[in-house]
Amino acid sequence: MISVALDGPAGAGKSTIARRAAAELGFVYIDTGAMYRAIGLAALKSNIDTGDVEAVKALLPGISLHLAFENGDQHIYLGDEDVSSDIRTEEVSMAASRVSAIPAVRTFLLELQRGFARESNVIMDGRDIGTVVLPDAQVKIFLTASPEERAKRRTIQLEEKGEKADYETILADIIKRDYNDSHRETAPLRPAADSIIVDTTELDLEQSVNMVVNTIREKIV
Ligand code: C5P
Repeated sequence: MISVALDGPAGAGKSTIARRAAAELGFVYIDTGAMYRAIGLAALKSNIDTGDVEAVKALLPGISLHLAFENGDQHIYLGDEDVSSDIRTEEVSMAASRVSAIPAVRTFLLELQRGFARESNVIMDGRDIGTVVLPDAQVKIFLTASPEERAKRRTIQLEEKGEKADYETILADIIKRDYNDSHRETAPLRPAADSIIVDTTELDLEQSVNMVVNTIREKIV
């Protein structure tokens, strides 16, 4: 099996680029952020403080999380409920960032994530795929862009969906999430030593997808 680890900070375009690259290469795209988001959502739904480690840990045994692939798109279920849309709010983003710092949450998701890579050729996106989840991945890409560019893209994306979007708030959230993700003790966000850094600040979507697909093709042929 071939595994591609695609890591990087929030809003660098990982999910869009990974989905497109996976479709071009015939790989399965696995979005691990969605799994942390689902746990963040479960905590919010249970009215648990996402900073309360013991309370979040106590919630884990009752969480049944599974993925389904419908027309190539990953859907994520909490129990019987498809929460794929519910996990995309700013509130859940922040909850995901907080619960993801809890080692028990990371352990809870690790085997699930590795299982996918044993079964299929995957492009797996996240923060620690190249460093922790799939350290033997044949291709490791660290996708990044400046915080301002990422906030700009996110603002446009929300506006296009007709949602409220304030650039300054989004930028502040991105900076805070970057800080949380790269300063936590367990599996912090950092490029694997053998990763290829792709900076998309100056690239549009097409160019970014091409860059990633070409990087993968060069490594696996
Ligand atoms: O990628 P996405 O923004 O959906 O991820 C949500 C949050 O989940 C991130 O801010 C990060 O804290 C956490 N995460 C993680 N490790 C991963 C994927 C996501 O810690 N592999």
